[in-house]
Amino acid sequence: MPVDATQPYDDQNIFARILRGEIPSKTVYEDEHTLAFHDIAPWSPTHLLVIPKGAYVSWDDFSARASDAEIAGFVRAVGHVARAAGLVEPGYRLLANTGAHSHQEVPHLHVHILAGRPLGPMLAQNDGRS
Ligand code: AMP
Repeated sequence: MPVDATQPYDDQNIFARILRGEIPSKTVYEDEHTLAFHDIAPWSPTHLLVIPKGAYVSWDDFSARASDAEIAGFVRAVGHVARAAGLVEPGYRLLANTGAHSHQEVPHLHVHILAGRPLGPMLAQNDGRS
């Protein structure tokens, strides 16, 4: 069920449960503000998720309410995770689905890092109209 990016934060969402240690994750990085782990159903040979530790539904929520320290920490962590995974030279794609039209499924902000093969055009092809 796609997420409404303006909905209140649901602390039972799957990433909140990962942050509380109730569900395991294959963690690749953690710091004060951020956790990064492997996506459970990868779309590319490397598919990582980076999430803030704070309770933010979406990119919209995070960019409006997070502190400067959280935002700076999160952005630096995304870059660090990609560098540490050796993705800079071959290249990678960042994706942050926000709200129903994007098909966001988990109502806790997450940035996807997709890499490991040529990723093709930015969006799935449709009937030629935007
Ligand atoms: P989105 O559609 O942008 O909300 O993406 C949600 C992502 O979370 C999907 O790529 C799922 O495969 C991933 N996901 C769901 N549950 C887990 C989990 N327990 N551990 C890791 N990734 C998960």
